[in-house]
Amino acid sequence: MTKQIQIGKTDLYVNPIGLGTNAVGGHNLYPNLNEEVGKDLVRSALNNGVNFLDTAFIYGPGRSEELVGDVIKESGKRSELIIATKGAHKLVGDDVLLDNSPAFLKQSVEDSLKRLQTDYIDLFYIHFPDESTPKDEAVGALKQLKDEGKIRAIGVSNFSIDQLKEANKDGYVDVLQGNYNLIQREAEQDFLPYTSANNISFIPFFPLASGLLAGKYNKAMTFNDLRADMPHLKGEEFAKNLEKVELIRKIANSKEAEVAHVVLAWYLTRDSIDVVIPGAKRAEQVLDNLKTLNVHLTDQEIHDIDSIFK
Ligand code: NAP
Repeated sequence: MTKQIQIGKTDLYVNPIGLGTNAVGGHNLYPNLNEEVGKDLVRSALNNGVNFLDTAFIYGPGRSEELVGDVIKESGKRSELIIATKGAHKLVGDDVLLDNSPAFLKQSVEDSLKRLQTDYIDLFYIHFPDESTPKDEAVGALKQLKDEGKIRAIGVSNFSIDQLKEANKDGYVDVLQGNYNLIQREAEQDFLPYTSANNISFIPFFPLASGLLAGKYNKAMTFNDLRADMPHLKGEEFAKNLEKVELIRKIANSKEAEVAHVVLAWYLTRDSIDVVIPGAKRAEQVLDNLKTLNVHLTDQEIHDIDSIFK
């Protein structure tokens, strides 16, 4: 069995290779998703030792949680799994608003529990900050839910550093989920030093830079989904990034590994990063990403990868 890693100061222990499920039922993010393919990739994860699943209400909306919940139920493995989900989006007519009020967060947890068909959530995040709720109050509401046993750990996501500090006034924040990958490294300026100093686990989203760092894109590629607006996948910047990926490929080849695995393994060497949650669109990608567990980077390689993307 894969060595289980503790997520920060929580009592959650997981395979460090988790699964991001925004492409499982996330019809509002990716057009033409096939739900059976999505369920199948979650099944494949659970059958191959992945026990940490990351979803959110807004993926779908609601549909990702429902599909993930279906697969967990059919697996009979609920007690072995660590489920993370997120809330803060409020659908009002055609509008999507953000709400971090204690009442809304408590209702969001209840709604997620139903969609996931479970009676506790291992890690619940405030997905995005709203403008008006003091962040320590928002987290205070989650602390109450933790005390009641409805959630086991508290996360926040997409917070500014000041919002994170306010959220963590009482030391209740267990996990910060933020944008971080070898190309987008702003988190190194303030978030990673703060999480490291405050025993908060940092979980990077977009670890593969939406597929670019999986090493399979080429200059001719264009995108028609959420990737279409991403600067690192456009024009000159895209071309430069592809060149850097080729340098990573050299390191990967020398280790008989692949680009994606070397990249994911590199994150796991960073202070305060305990786990990664690469997304997948097909079961093969889930299996493929598990090969990361076989990659052991030397100090020199860690340094070289760092320098390529500095
Ligand atoms: P990502 O992990 O950077 O990229 C995932 C994409 O890379 C897959 O959908 C797949 O896309 C490609 N891929 C994955 N494994 C591969 C492999 N072995 N070989 C080749 N291609 C591979 O981006 P992400 O899925 O958007 O982010 C990860 C997770 O973070 C999400 O699923 C979600 O749970 C979470 N997230 C959270 C937030 C937040 O606001 N908190 C925001 C974004 C994401 P293609 O096959 O289409 O190339």
